[in-house]
Amino acid sequence: MKNITYNDLEKKILSYAPFEIPKLRKAYEYAKNYHKEQTRASGEPYIIHPLNIAYILANMQADMDTIVAGILHDVVEDTESTLDEIEKKFNKTIRDLVDGVTKMTKLDFDNKKELSAVNIRKIIVSLARDPRIIIIKLVDRLHNMRTLEYKSEKKQQEKALETLEIYVPLAYYIGASKIKDELENIAFRYLKPSLYGDINKQREELKKETSDILNDIQSKIENLLKKNGVKAKFEIRYKDNYSIYKKLLTKINFEMIHDMLSIKVLVKNTRDCYLALMLIHEEFTPINNRFKDYIAKPKTNMYKSIHTTVFGPDNRLIQFQIRTFEMERVAIYGLTSYWFKYKNNARIEMQKDLEENFQFFKSIKELDSTILDNIEFVSRIKKELFSSNIYVYTTSGEVIELPNGATVIDFAYKIHTDIGNSMVAAIVNDEAVSLDYVLENQDRVRIITDNKAYVPKEEWLDKVVTTNAKNKIMDFIKENEDNLN
Ligand code: MN
Repeated sequence: MKNITYNDLEKKILSYAPFEIPKLRKAYEYAKNYHKEQTRASGEPYIIHPLNIAYILANMQADMDTIVAGILHDVVEDTESTLDEIEKKFNKTIRDLVDGVTKMTKLDFDNKKELSAVNIRKIIVSLARDPRIIIIKLVDRLHNMRTLEYKSEKKQQEKALETLEIYVPLAYYIGASKIKDELENIAFRYLKPSLYGDINKQREELKKETSDILNDIQSKIENLLKKNGVKAKFEIRYKDNYSIYKKLLTKINFEMIHDMLSIKVLVKNTRDCYLALMLIHEEFTPINNRFKDYIAKPKTNMYKSIHTTVFGPDNRLIQFQIRTFEMERVAIYGLTSYWFKYKNNARIEMQKDLEENFQFFKSIKELDSTILDNIEFVSRIKKELFSSNIYVYTTSGEVIELPNGATVIDFAYKIHTDIGNSMVAAIVNDEAVSLDYVLENQDRVRIITDNKAYVPKEEWLDKVVTTNAKNKIMDFIKENEDNLN
């Protein structure tokens, strides 16, 4: 990827906020001066990093306080610069944004001490007050993930896991799907390189096989819409590698994925969305249960669109995503698309809108006003807002994904049926644990087996949460009963 220069950034800002250039230049000089002795793991000057962040933010047409905070986001943590100085040279808002991002970097959800809980609570509540902190932090993580190749393997694994646990859910809550998709796919590539490679290969083959079909369908629908006076923009899309991986975990095979191939149809207004839907259904047979009207019923992160899957040529399943250009902007940028809407710094109005529309902000406000205990607040936030999955390691360092609440028995069955069936003990992070031990993120797990034991007990059924483990245990019990009879 080409590195961004200050001139690229300035050009971008000129296109939508030319009057802010002096402020931009001042921030750049300030950060460059403080970071001047530092280099990135890649050997490049450190300033490359804040510059890239500012550029990504500028692409979303962020306001100047956000851009400046993006440029300054690491100076307080890593250099002699202070928050007071930033407030004096810039303003209070920028100080608060930089402060928020710095604190968010230090968030440690696994620390169960009261003092830490008090801090986490403060930070979470402040995020709800100014979501720009989340956006800067997400973009910071995005650039760090893009340049992860320069870090040690251990760091890569840690960052990739943390990204899936905390940043991906955050990106989802604020509806920033473009950032979310990229974060997920980079993390996946580092965590499961060979699986990533396999899926990517299959995906590329599928692309070759189907591009003609999809182009034909696109022009067919385009003509139909034209005849009916609807102007539309199209985009052919293949499901990304991480989403395919998630689907493969639940479905039988690649061919069964119903939204592997999709065509995005962008139109001017809602009426045209429904018209397009009708025309598509007249032309192709829709499959049952695959119609979703997120326009009538938007997702909690404000995503709006119509989805329908139809039988295309060769019986291939083709998904259509139909939405307006405005809905598309929300789909890509999430709440950052509000930046376009409230150009004149109408931040109070924006905040009101966010609180009413985004479940994320409603949840934080609700939890904050109903829960007094800080430790409970943090654990509820973690449970309700962050990843519903945990990631643990095998002894050989392989990452295993399990649902929250999974025990060592779930783990054993996930590795192999025989391991589950013959397990007698478990060791987590070098300590023996009981079989109902609930796993936590980044645990290192070793299962002790004994082929002579081979006796999953009925009571294990209460100690597992995965269907996989439940089924295997029941299979075993049933087989044994049959043998006894
Ligand atoms: Mn940074």
